[in-house]
Amino acid sequence: MEKGATIKHELSKAAKTGDWRYVKPEVDKEKCIGCSTCVPFCPEASIVMKSHKEGQKSKADIDYEFCKGCGVCEQVCPVKAILMKKN
Ligand code: SF4
Ligand code: SF4
Repeated sequence: MEKGATIKHELSKAAKTGDWRYVKPEVDKEKCIGCSTCVPFCPEASIVMKSHKEGQKSKADIDYEFCKGCGVCEQVCPVKAILMKKN
């Protein structure tokens, strides 16, 4: 039997899907409760939870190089902290 292998993913070679986006999500950091609900729903894995101040709860942060503007994150946010705006 052939042995399997793990191929290392090189992010620098990944296609940047943000190029053709015409709307982009903006996170209202005041409204975001840091629940992480949006993170697994993003088809481009473009949302990470980040703390912007020491000791402060992590909030959703979007990587616009890969966000394709699909709007799924806006739909799933329970507190409407994400709004799609013109790019
Ligand atoms: S708009 Fe779509 S691709 Fe962009 S962060 Fe939200 S879910 Fe991800
Ligand atoms: S789903 Fe909404 S409240 Fe939860 S982390 Fe994402 S932006 Fe913040």
